[in-house]
Amino acid sequence: MNLHQCFLTQNNCYKAGRTIVPQGIMVHSTGASNPNLRRYIGPDDGLLGPVSSENWNTAIPGGLEVCVNAFIGKLKDGSIATYQTLPWNMRGWHAGGSANDTHIGFEICEDGLSDKEYFNAVYKEAVELCTYLCKLYGLTEQNIICHSEGYTLGIASNHADVMHWFPRHGKSMDTFRAAVKAALIEQEDEDMTQDTFNKLMNAWQEQSDPIYKTMDDVPAYWKDDAAELVEAGAIKGNGVHSFGIRQSTLKAAIICKRYADNICR
Ligand SMILES: [Zn+2]
Repeated sequence: MNLHQCFLTQNNCYKAGRTIVPQGIMVHSTGASNPNLRRYIGPDDGLLGPVSSENWNTAIPGGLEVCVNAFIGKLKDGSIATYQTLPWNMRGWHAGGSANDTHIGFEICEDGLSDKEYFNAVYKEAVELCTYLCKLYGLTEQNIICHSEGYTLGIASNHADVMHWFPRHGKSMDTFRAAVKAALIEQEDEDMTQDTFNKLMNAWQEQSDPIYKTMDDVPAYWKDDAAELVEAGAIKGNGVHSFGIRQSTLKAAIICKRYADNICR
């Protein structure tokens, strides 16, 4: 993800400054053929390029009370970027329904909808943004919907995005969620340090193969055999201090002892 920040501080939504506890993410696309971020975001930071006079860093863009937490689109050099335009926990004006109270909203800038290369690039960027936000707020792919799904759920206004676009390139919100899920699993693996692995391994071993510290920890059905093994010096310790033997090891010792008892009988 190519993440930048340019808060739309002149937008009335930003000025309202209401916050939410993000419980989900809503994916939008702009519904207008203009893939350039500078159409919506300003001022120019040197990467965006000359900003449109209709950009959203104004009180009510185009007379509409609209604002989102981020945009995905093109920089002036044609490369793809994500611009965060509101703090992630700031209530956006994107859903036209109650999803504004629960969902982070972002827009993918549409082009003419038929350029596969552009679509694949912004789709990938959107997957990465959602993966990042899921990790940030402890969400899963199940918490991601698009605007049109929000309408079906009764928490957003009647818009078609993004399902008027994704299927043109063989994608859907289900493939999108699956991609985020896969990315989250991959990141989990990357986050696994040796230290964390050791801790998990120790906890698993403690549960599946407990250590008997003293004779008191040994189950009743093994106590006599264990006491004899200690007495014979086969197991170190006196069964009170530093007995320290794991269940699997004691089991093996007792199997050998019982076999030996049987032969010598
Ligand atoms: Zn929308």
